[in-house]
Amino acid sequence: MRESLIDIAYLVSAVLFIFGLKLLSSPKTAVRGNLISAFGMLLAVVATLFVKDIVHFRNIAIGLIIGAVAGGAWAYLVKMTQMPQTVAIFNGFGGIASALVAISTLYGAFKIPEGVPLEWNRAAVGLSIIVGSVTFFGSFIAFAKLQEIIKGDPISLPLHKLWNLVLLISALVLTGFLVSSGNVNFAWIIFGVSAVLGVMLVIPIGGADMPVAISLLNAYSGLAAAISGFVLNNYGLIITGSLVGSSGFILTKIMADAMNRKFVDILIGNVTIQMTEEAFAGVQIKGRVKKTDPQEVAILLDSANTIAFVPGYGMAVSQAQFAVKELFNLLTKDGKEVYFAIHPVAGRMPGHMNVLLAEADIPYDKIKTLEESNSLISETDIAFVIGANDVVNPLARDSKDTPISGMPIIEVDRAKTVIVLKRSMRAGFSGVPNPLFYLDNSYMLFGDAKQSIQEVAKEFKEYRKL
Ligand code: NDP
Repeated sequence: MRESLIDIAYLVSAVLFIFGLKLLSSPKTAVRGNLISAFGMLLAVVATLFVKDIVHFRNIAIGLIIGAVAGGAWAYLVKMTQMPQTVAIFNGFGGIASALVAISTLYGAFKIPEGVPLEWNRAAVGLSIIVGSVTFFGSFIAFAKLQEIIKGDPISLPLHKLWNLVLLISALVLTGFLVSSGNVNFAWIIFGVSAVLGVMLVIPIGGADMPVAISLLNAYSGLAAAISGFVLNNYGLIITGSLVGSSGFILTKIMADAMNRKFVDILIGNVTIQMTEEAFAGVQIKGRVKKTDPQEVAILLDSANTIAFVPGYGMAVSQAQFAVKELFNLLTKDGKEVYFAIHPVAGRMPGHMNVLLAEADIPYDKIKTLEESNSLISETDIAFVIGANDVVNPLARDSKDTPISGMPIIEVDRAKTVIVLKRSMRAGFSGVPNPLFYLDNSYMLFGDAKQSIQEVAKEFKEYRKL
């Protein structure tokens, strides 16, 4: 009776997750979707507390306190701009939790579920350790790259892919030994080999390709949880892990398509192209940089009818979204057509710009996708680039030798005039210099984006006597 009720609770929570995910697909219903999914999770957690023989309330209390203090402190201390790194590391923790739960079954922490052959259970343990450890160590490399603790440049060893294959095969062979012997030492060796594999899979991925790597690690964390569900025979975990895993793989495919990368290349840790010194030198010198100021920008905006706001990571850094909204209000009240051109990998995490713009209550119908924006851009008077760099870099389209080559961009260079807000001439996350800044129709407004926009808004009001 108890088991059946628990299974029903898991089923209901799975339905809530699926329904919640569906609602998350539109900004209008996303908040409701989030709440429904959170309720599903609460139900699953409460149901798990009633599982016989698995739950040790004292251990749960200890884990809860340690987790709540560490997570709470972390969430309090982390800056909004460090959110992508935080998400990357949380994926990693999901992975290591699954691996450790799997290892603990070998120490007798959980009874092997009735009717499950010992070999099957051990095989699931081995796989859970492989995926969990790869996720944890891969996520730490992603974290270090996003935090710029290690450089975003791709790092690769001679025969890198071959080494990856050797590591993967070794981990699987060791899993075979674990299945036949049940010796826990094999579990730790699998953990170590997979740790190296995790590092090896992520280090060759260059800064610009990180969005794909991060969504893939997110998918892995779900996969690890689902395999742990098989270890514990817990349907709730199997369903939740599968949902996280499959939505993560779908997101990875979307990000790979957005960057025009092959999904398989990212999966096997294929190295990103590294730009040669000559290629760098070749692009930096062409053209002349024209510096502008808030007053001139206000006049340019006044003469425009259609304006595209193109936000990037710099908008997140300067937390300029509210100032952007203010300028948007001023321009639209003045009868101008303003839209937001959003690149799928702008910022440092999937949906980064959408989250910031939603926070500032920008109307959804003003937010245009990459394709929509590019179809409007040549008729656009001003492309107003707010801390975006790689996602508007024409070299991605025009050159074959850069780490971002082949990635579709928002083609702001085709707008009549381009105004770029950033603090310096520094390159974007990929390290590729941007010839956009030197074009005849480009003007640079140097400074912190929020401050620049506030000054432009002030000048615009004064100029228009608003
Ligand atoms: P970029 O990182 O290419 O460029 C951002 C620009 O913002 C910088 O050149 C910087 O120039 C400027 N900037 C920084 N701080 C400020 C500030 N306070 N005020 C004004 N400008 C500022 O960002 P994009 O959004 O164009 O591209 C995203 C990049 O990140 C891509 O390469 C993408 O692949 C990668 N990425 C994306 C992820 C995702 O999921 N979206 C995840 C991981 C990586 P300056 O220093 O001169 O001010």
